Amino acid sequence: MDEIGGRHRAKNAQGEERMARRSSAQGVAAGEEPRAEALARIAALVGAPHALTDPTLMAPFLADERGLYTGRAAMVVRPATTAEVAGVVRICAEAGIAIVPQGGNTSLVGGSVPHEHGREIVLSLSRLNRIRAVDAANDSLVAEAGVTLAEVQAAAAEADRLFPLSMASEGSCQVGGVLSTNAGGTAVLRYGNARELTLGIEVVLADGRVLDLLSGLRKDNTGYDTKQLFIGAEGTLGIITAAVLKLFPRPREVETALVALPRLGAVTELLARLRRASGDAVSAFELIPRIALDFVLRHVPGTSDPLAGAHPWYVLVELSSPRPGTGLREALEQALSGAVEDGLVADATLASSEAQRAGLWRLRDAIPEAQKREGGSIKHDVAVPVARVPEFIETASRAVTAEMAGIRVVAFGHAGDGNIHFNLSQPEGMDRDAYLARWFDFNRIVHDIVAGMGGSVSAEHGIGRLKRGEFARYADAAEIELMRRIKAAFDPKGILNPGKLLPPE
Ligand code: ZN
Repeated sequence: MDEIGGRHRAKNAQGEERMARRSSAQGVAAGEEPRAEALARIAALVGAPHALTDPTLMAPFLADERGLYTGRAAMVVRPATTAEVAGVVRICAEAGIAIVPQGGNTSLVGGSVPHEHGREIVLSLSRLNRIRAVDAANDSLVAEAGVTLAEVQAAAAEADRLFPLSMASEGSCQVGGVLSTNAGGTAVLRYGNARELTLGIEVVLADGRVLDLLSGLRKDNTGYDTKQLFIGAEGTLGIITAAVLKLFPRPREVETALVALPRLGAVTELLARLRRASGDAVSAFELIPRIALDFVLRHVPGTSDPLAGAHPWYVLVELSSPRPGTGLREALEQALSGAVEDGLVADATLASSEAQRAGLWRLRDAIPEAQKREGGSIKHDVAVPVARVPEFIETASRAVTAEMAGIRVVAFGHAGDGNIHFNLSQPEGMDRDAYLARWFDFNRIVHDIVAGMGGSVSAEHGIGRLKRGEFARYADAAEIELMRRIKAAFDPKGILNPGKLLPPE
């Protein structure tokens, strides 16, 4: 399945050719025999069962989540410890073998899969899957790179704590990937993204040395904060093998509501009022357009509309407090009835059981799955200043509709932090491939509007392989130049996830 159509393929093919030429030059320099010998040493180091070369066994590691890319690899290596990761990297550094680090392989921008030329190895961190320590006094835990986000949440809960990072892929995405993409999700407005939840990391450098930054200190001003460079670097500067993650008191009171808005413009004022009324207890504020709700009701079994009548916009609101009996429900009810009186809210329903709460979240979480059933979707993961979310959605919706009549705008997501998934479903009845061939035309329209509003063309998914061109177009040239110098300093041989994140030169 090619989600983005022929034009993108053609562009990639040129890039791949360049890549292949460069790699074969490396191959000749290193020689084929030393290369084969290096791969044999890697297999001996991690054990033959964990050095995969059988195409069938390698297949799940070579294709990305969205079906945009299917690569090839010389080997899929699955080390079990930091020392083994370091050993593999040392051998690769000597032999000039490029490494694609991989966690749960849930990247939405092709960041975690190898290229098509087949000379890279995939280094899967899945077997580094231990929670090394839980420090309740420091409100932190140390998790290895291959621990899934759901396992981190469970370990925190076991210690009567909360690890607040939450997203649809949490059952399969892993700590190393979450940090390497500085992942966001639904609780960013209250707790911040992955970067803000990280106290320390352990990372294998491009020459195989291990940098231990796992002190977990809450304060440390000794020079540059190097760990921050590895967070969000998408495996291009080093391979994260473990992290110290911040924990919080576990919520004792949680209130969830689906709120219908008469108009999009009400969203900003509603957020401000809920924050004020609850003592800043808003932990989710997710925007849902009517069309997304319609898609979910149409395609996802067991869902139903909890409100009578159709409304143009909805917000899934969650308030939470670690202290029981703080009256969150009353505060929410009062704030909402005041908002109804003032014309900001048309209708609302509050969950009164865990099952109802789960049902409301299902309406939000099922949007991507339901949208898939409506044909091709051209996607944008953008951020604008929170107060300009309505203006962005209205302006961009007008622009894309002017470009193609019948296009269906599905703008949803994290309105509380300004991150909107501005997805465009194809007009009904249009040929899917013909629609997806317009991917970059619509990217240009939407991203130009985002850039004009001081926004970001990649809010929480990263750059990977898919967005390198867009990154180059909108980033400050001086910033790109600094990034190239950082890359050269950290990875002088260019063996760590080449062809990802940084724009083509
Ligand atoms: Zn999201």
